[in-house]
Amino acid sequence: MIDPYLPEHGDPSYHVEHYDLELDYRVVAGRLSGRAKITAVANTALTRFTLDLGVFKVSRVLVNGKPARFTHRAHKLIVQARIPAGRQFTVEVRYVGNPEPIRTRHWGELGWDHLEDGVLVASQPVGAPSWFPCNDHPRDKATYRISVTTASPYQVVANGDLVDGRVSASTTTWVYLQLEPMASYLATVQIGRYEFLERADDNVPLRAALPARLTEGYAHDFGRQTDMMIAFERMFGPYPFSAYTVVVTDDDLDIPVEAQGLSIFGANHVDGRRGAEHLVAHELAHQWFGNSVTIAGWRHIWLNEGLATYAEWLWSQASGGRSADELARTARLKLAKLPQDLVLADPGVQRIFDDRVYQRGALAMHALRLRLGDAEFFTLLREWTSKNKYGTVTTDDFKTLAQQHSSRPLDDLFAAWLHQARLPELP
Ligand SMILES: [Zn+2]
Repeated sequence: MIDPYLPEHGDPSYHVEHYDLELDYRVVAGRLSGRAKITAVANTALTRFTLDLGVFKVSRVLVNGKPARFTHRAHKLIVQARIPAGRQFTVEVRYVGNPEPIRTRHWGELGWDHLEDGVLVASQPVGAPSWFPCNDHPRDKATYRISVTTASPYQVVANGDLVDGRVSASTTTWVYLQLEPMASYLATVQIGRYEFLERADDNVPLRAALPARLTEGYAHDFGRQTDMMIAFERMFGPYPFSAYTVVVTDDDLDIPVEAQGLSIFGANHVDGRRGAEHLVAHELAHQWFGNSVTIAGWRHIWLNEGLATYAEWLWSQASGGRSADELARTARLKLAKLPQDLVLADPGVQRIFDDRVYQRGALAMHALRLRLGDAEFFTLLREWTSKNKYGTVTTDDFKTLAQQHSSRPLDDLFAAWLHQARLPELP
């Protein structure tokens, strides 16, 4: 099904199992040569299919190893090929160009972006085609192998585990394997002159890649991540990936961004005063809510942002700060002064990142918690993350599961918080 919020993205006629990306990137020239080999399965009998791909020159497309006819315009690569329904096939795309972010009407520039001295990729929701051909919809999750070759002074971080590294005369190749299914918007490459840090004594390895000048501030500002991980595993269930990496860029960033298995912060988020610790909690929580459990369509965004924002409040309380209830009541007072014209379960594409989605989403979770009681509420969250691990979900899925944790009907609560614009009172 085409996403009504972003109908020009993705192709529901097939699904991808695996992306194998071989990228060669020249930082100074800003030049990317890529070879993407995609393993997919046809959902229906195909005579053609599309991939989302930005401003590159495509030199060759092979389907099952044989040259295929294709056209490439308006960020769509249309490939002619006859594939029977249910059949697995491979498509290989060779492309070259100077990647640039995708310009969007509502969210500015997304995807592959240049730093002062390196690269940052932050794609949510539609930036992935800025660096590789993909079936760009969060419902179509796949495994990835990402190989990046670049000049040796630079370090590269991508999703998954670093499985291979080869140093030649002047370049280094970094190979990452992401074996847990991942949405295209969460795929990332980070390139910079970074130091690598790792805390090996943790249950989940906590890594960092950051400029040397920030290591001291980082040790303080991100120093409570071990405790945060323990608290979140207790509340949300086991951490879903093999490790967690924080990348801090040498540049300042407006907001941090999540990717699968990692988060990207700006130098400004290391202030030596833990001034951004709520964001540290927010981004870590996205590993459960958004990355492992992924929304099946963009209208369900409150499930990601509401739970990640609620995690900020839960962490505040768990770390001895203001209680989640206090923070919820303050947030409600603030929201009550803003226009009440947003329906949480269907905010409209231009408002998926409206702060009211975040705040009201967190409030809806708090209202549900007050109704269910702590024991049932956190059991529900853990069941949500285990039942939907590496899968995709909708608002209805959440309502159905929540109802199983309540002896009384929850229809009134969900109607008021999710489907009406007027802001309800907290219980
Ligand atoms: Zn978020």
